[in-house]
Amino acid sequence: MIEKVKYFEVTTPPRLCNCSLCKAPAVSHCRMGLSNLKVCYNKFPYDKGSLLLISEDFRWQSEVIQDDLANLLYFQSLCNKDSEGKRLYLFYNQDGTGSTIEHFHIQGIIIDDTPLPIEVAPTKELMRLGEITIAKILEYPIYVLSIYGNERANPDEIARVAFGIVQIVEKSLDTPYNLSISHKTIRVIPRRGRTGYEVPEFLKTLSGDPDYAARIAGLEVSGMFIVSHKGLYSRIRALIKSGQPNDFFWKALAELGYTEEQQKKLEEQLHTLRID
Ligand SMILES: [Zn+2]
Repeated sequence: MIEKVKYFEVTTPPRLCNCSLCKAPAVSHCRMGLSNLKVCYNKFPYDKGSLLLISEDFRWQSEVIQDDLANLLYFQSLCNKDSEGKRLYLFYNQDGTGSTIEHFHIQGIIIDDTPLPIEVAPTKELMRLGEITIAKILEYPIYVLSIYGNERANPDEIARVAFGIVQIVEKSLDTPYNLSISHKTIRVIPRRGRTGYEVPEFLKTLSGDPDYAARIAGLEVSGMFIVSHKGLYSRIRALIKSGQPNDFFWKALAELGYTEEQQKKLEEQLHTLRID
């Protein structure tokens, strides 16, 4: 006769990781819920004020944001601290959106008050949830949903609504996304498909180097390129000098973002969002 039954939950053992992020030296540490994060200079590539926040223990890149609202609330809170006219702008690249490393990391730049192109694009309101507005960006090459509040809004509510949109994009529509997180706005940039590893042809040819393909991740969709490849840099400079850079970049970004049909499906599901 069995008197005691003990149940052992089967869990995946912690993955041993030895990626370049594991080896990156920390300049500071912070704590995100149960995880320790190390703050590193982003050398991939490096620009002044360019940072990486990396989980000390291995966490999956794809899970940290979409599985726990507390983590998004935490990252939003980091951006709420302005000092001496500088602010932190964070951007997140889910698997398949320019991210090549599965070890959790979120990238940031410390910038002055000059807004990024994505921040100054006009918007059209789609709906309101209490003090929060969900708008889509107009006159911008890639489909972006912008979530912001009025002066009575609690910044937490911005993150809660953005989290709800991420759930629809990832779980219901099965597409990856970039996020941009700034002082008063979170932007969700859903991507047409998972092209992080299979780089589109136009990005392969842009650098002129068969071994190097440009990646369009959260910072690039925000309108800023930091380039570490000389060939790619020269090609982009030539495009800008020609006076027609937008022909190329607008087309490139538009191809990575949601189609009109995907936009419609997402917008139809926005009414299911609630602020609890
Ligand atoms: Zn690692």
